[in-house]
Amino acid sequence: MIRISDVRLGSDVEDSVLRVLRSGRLSQGPVVAALEEEFARLAGTRHAVAVNNGTTALIAALRGIGIGPGDEVVVPDFTFVATSNAVLATGADVRLVDVRADDFCVDPEAVAAAMGPRTAAVMPVHLFGQPADLDALLPVVRDRVPIVEDAAQAHGAIWRGWPVGSLGRAGCFSFYATKNLVAGEGGIVTTDDADLADHLRVLRNQGMRERYEYDVVGENYRMTDLVAAVLLPQLARYDEQVARRREHASRLTAGLHGLPGLVLPAATPGREHVWHQYTVRLVGDIDRDTVAKRLGEVGVGSGVYYPRPLHEYACYREHPRVRADPTPGASEAAATCLSLPVHAGLTTDDVDRVVAALTSIIGAG
Ligand SMILES: *Cc1c(COP(=O)(O)O)cnc(C)c1O
Repeated sequence: MIRISDVRLGSDVEDSVLRVLRSGRLSQGPVVAALEEEFARLAGTRHAVAVNNGTTALIAALRGIGIGPGDEVVVPDFTFVATSNAVLATGADVRLVDVRADDFCVDPEAVAAAMGPRTAAVMPVHLFGQPADLDALLPVVRDRVPIVEDAAQAHGAIWRGWPVGSLGRAGCFSFYATKNLVAGEGGIVTTDDADLADHLRVLRNQGMRERYEYDVVGENYRMTDLVAAVLLPQLARYDEQVARRREHASRLTAGLHGLPGLVLPAATPGREHVWHQYTVRLVGDIDRDTVAKRLGEVGVGSGVYYPRPLHEYACYREHPRVRADPTPGASEAAATCLSLPVHAGLTTDDVDRVVAALTSIIGAG
């Protein structure tokens, strides 16, 4: 079976974890600090604050910039649910807006139309590893409200020379077990704002600056040194891993080009994709779920990210603090998307098998 995601960590990770285990210092310490320094380099920011997962990173960033009850935050309707859950966790309202079916990212025109007096932040999601359309988004948003980037799937992606995580007031990343950098659970917030970084460090640690000196009402958002030890060696060879994902993506595109009813992911100028997912759309006669099933039968894994836009779930549609604009792009994306294996653990033969399987399924109708 060629799997849609695959975690293979090397002996460098084993050694790094063992060193922490033997040090006897398991909680947040020097390895977390080292990770923060390295990650800030990847994101091109002055500061990075590690936390216990990506959802926490979003909640902390939103709280850190003062988002709370009475505020409205603009979120794409087509994303992983954590983006919306994080806003609701702060007490603020969610405004769901449309995405574009070509890049699966938030539609800047929909954002412009949704912004009003209560809009307190906009959260573009760099979905599948591709930066959102910041050319159009920044002029609409930047001088009015802060941008909090959901970069959970896009470590190292670049927009016009600027890494994601450095484009808004804060960038939020996840190290969940299926992301491009993995630790099972983990997250990090990046920012150039020294006051925000300082506030996040205090908020993360029960509101303490010094032991038992409570500055603010805080939380326990801390990452452990064990988690940081899993991540640090991966960061050192992350460029190589992304290069492999890019090779696989090019090979998929070359092999699948021209198949009827198949829309390949767009390579958008100015945006460097890190291929967390290689996501096609099936718009012809053959339906997406049938294709996924047939791929599975011949040993090719695939994934539907995501099967429905958020507003279609009753718990969001009926939520008193969620308001959804019309989102035909999100519905279209959800009905037609299919992610194919693209991860760094694949061989060239694996990629060719994916191409051959999909070609034969679509050819057979
Ligand atoms: C994974 C993910 C998150 C949440 O990260 P966790 O570490 O799982 O909490 C948030 N947003 C998006 C788009 C994600 O893919």
